[in-house]
Amino acid sequence: MTVRTRFAPSPTGYLHIGGARTALFSWALARHFGGTFVLRIEDTDLERSTPEAVQAILDGMNWLGLQHDEGPFYQMQRMDRYREVLAQMLEKGQAYYCYSSPEEVEAMRERQRAAGEKPRYDGTWRPEEGKTLSPVPADRKPVIRFKNPLDGDVTWNDLVKGPITISNRELDDLVIARPDGTPTYNFCVAIDDWDMEITHVLRGDDHVNNTPRQLNILNALGAKLPLYGHVPMILGPDGQKLSKRRNAVSVMDYADKGYLPEAMLNYLARLGWSHGDDEIFSMEQMCSWFDMTHLSGSASQFNPEKLDWVNNHY
Ligand code: GLU
Repeated sequence: MTVRTRFAPSPTGYLHIGGARTALFSWALARHFGGTFVLRIEDTDLERSTPEAVQAILDGMNWLGLQHDEGPFYQMQRMDRYREVLAQMLEKGQAYYCYSSPEEVEAMRERQRAAGEKPRYDGTWRPEEGKTLSPVPADRKPVIRFKNPLDGDVTWNDLVKGPITISNRELDDLVIARPDGTPTYNFCVAIDDWDMEITHVLRGDDHVNNTPRQLNILNALGAKLPLYGHVPMILGPDGQKLSKRRNAVSVMDYADKGYLPEAMLNYLARLGWSHGDDEIFSMEQMCSWFDMTHLSGSASQFNPEKLDWVNNHY
């Protein structure tokens, strides 16, 4: 198998410690197997994405020496492709136009909550054999929903967390295109991973809930499924979420302070990955050792003193 990994940042700010670690793991995995490391910029959030942030991410990757083999691919430049897949899915009955208004959807959720049920789309516009749908309201722009399987489970063997099973009953008929026709986040990610033939997705565990949604879309498309590994988040020295207020969390802050990129990489590698007792190792060594078997499932703590120690030992 040719291993293809990717780093897919949203350009909403600088390259932070957590993102850099995900990039490092994905890069090292590709290098370990002589594979390909893809860089993808997930810039569909027009309000939060900026060209400055794209540049800041590229600068950070460059400083660390995490060279990509393909890309950067920009999601905003792939809109035609997403529209093409949306059209195919509508055609095949894997997705449908939903004319329920936001108010109707909210009212439906309220009713479900009041009845103690998990709020989910009630399927008013979901086509089924023998079901007659209401006439299409003239003045309403529809969203497109994915026809999620009603029953069964989504299962994957997470490279970090082990086997995970989610019941389809927990999942909604996901909105995959907005009323203006623009595709939504999970849909774009699934199509990209498919088109870019990604074999291993390593990302933060804040994305665990997206994985069954992306897997269902990929399954509907008959795509070869990637393996997924969700790495736990990095906490600050105080055990709290890393925060800009309390620590320098931008990789380039350390570049500006004169830290060595090799020291940063060594330190980042140890946040959630272990191998032997070596305190300092080269990136060649890391790539030869990094085979995913030593990824930790528990949150790691960012310790600036330890980073200083590594930096001083170069
Ligand atoms: N763009 C997402 C982020 O920056 C990552 C998505 C992914 O790796 O699938 O959090």
